[in-house]
Amino acid sequence: MNENTPMDTRSLSVQEKITPVLMKRFDIPGPRYTSYPTADRFLPDSQGKHLIDALNQRSSAAESLPLALYVHLPFCESVCYYCACNKVITKDHSKVAEYLRYLDKEMGLMVSYLPDPARRMVSQLHLGGGSPTFLDDEELTQLMNGLRAHFPFESGCECSIEVDPRTVTTSRLTHLRDLGFNRLSFGVQDFDPKVQQAVHRVQPFEQVAALMQDARTLGFDSVNLDLIYGLPHQSPESFDQTLRQVLEVQPDRIALYAYAHLPARFKPQRRIHAEDLPQAADKVHMLDQAIHAFMAHGYDYIGMDHFALPDDQLAQVKREGRLQRNFQGYHTNAGADLIGLGVSAISQAGQAYSQSVKTLEEYYAALDGAMLPVERGLTLDDDDLIRRDVIMTLMCQGRINFDAVERQYGIEFSSYFAEALARLQEFEIEGLLIRTLAGLEVSKLGWFFVRAMAMSFDKYLWRHQDHQRFSKVL
Ligand code: SF4
Repeated sequence: MNENTPMDTRSLSVQEKITPVLMKRFDIPGPRYTSYPTADRFLPDSQGKHLIDALNQRSSAAESLPLALYVHLPFCESVCYYCACNKVITKDHSKVAEYLRYLDKEMGLMVSYLPDPARRMVSQLHLGGGSPTFLDDEELTQLMNGLRAHFPFESGCECSIEVDPRTVTTSRLTHLRDLGFNRLSFGVQDFDPKVQQAVHRVQPFEQVAALMQDARTLGFDSVNLDLIYGLPHQSPESFDQTLRQVLEVQPDRIALYAYAHLPARFKPQRRIHAEDLPQAADKVHMLDQAIHAFMAHGYDYIGMDHFALPDDQLAQVKREGRLQRNFQGYHTNAGADLIGLGVSAISQAGQAYSQSVKTLEEYYAALDGAMLPVERGLTLDDDDLIRRDVIMTLMCQGRINFDAVERQYGIEFSSYFAEALARLQEFEIEGLLIRTLAGLEVSKLGWFFVRAMAMSFDKYLWRHQDHQRFSKVL
């Protein structure tokens, strides 16, 4: 279903506004669709059967498809109060050695399930967490050596790592470059000292700016900066200053997330006082401010919460209609199977998903028993596959071509998706979605609500009417 022509997102929204009325109607709780079905639909699968079967069933043609690797490194020295990640807070760095030993075991087991591992070249690697830079230089070297010993890497492999600015120096960035990393993602969130104190993550602007400069000098291909709006003590005025500072250091990519205050689900968030959070109207204002600032400074809107400079690869694949989406968000690598390593990591191969156990104890116990440390998984049925394709195409390309779907899956779009099309009418009325002769097309302003539109195609959500437990779409 790749018959979509590229769409112009450069001039997005400069004249258009996300109004409080639109927010009230369409900023509803919903999944981020890094997978379909969403991970909470996966079934118990302690044997890793879904993943193993999918890897075994890869046709000989697919056996040469590239691999994408994700490694979850869960350790952090201190907790950020907004955090919703699976992490282990500790100052005990000796825990890393044991974790690396088990990661190595997992890599060996995983490779044993690949029918022809020498042909599965790694084209993308991402280290996430937790804080990957909790590991010292020697430990990161050990990890990279282990990965390269188990998996063959393409020479131009895209290697990225999440960096906590508080844990790196110029020499550490140099080491990362020497290890083959060519992309960095800095967790910043906000530069206002008062906000940083309120979320327990203090990292002065000057420190981040110096590291960004180092990254440029060292020749990293792309540097991403993560921001969050809706944090305690943020205001349109304070956020304006943060945006000016972000634009001063000009990251290649910007991820702008909304803070979702769910203290009942995420314990660290109980340290954030609800009365310190900005009002809904101020949140809308900050989002609008950010969009206009990024657009005015030449960033392309990628989708949902991502922006990139026009010459960044993410913006290029978006223009070419080749953008993809998986558990790491938007990415550039079509067709690769994703192998997740480490606690809570998610894999995606062919028609299957699987997710690993979340605690270190469970992880070590499974590997001691020579089992993949899988907790749950799913093999998609025919209906799931059609809906996944439609949802991901909508989220990545912003348009659905009815004829392409009908030819690929042998369905009649209007009757198969009658309920979804009826639900989408309210987006059409507001001009967020346009019905054309060929299909559906998300308007420029509609891109910010594309997640809510995708929900219309989610069979599970409507069957159970349970979207309230997700965070809001913006
Ligand atoms: S936000 Fe990142 S660095 Fe902070 S506690 Fe969570 S995982 Fe660790």
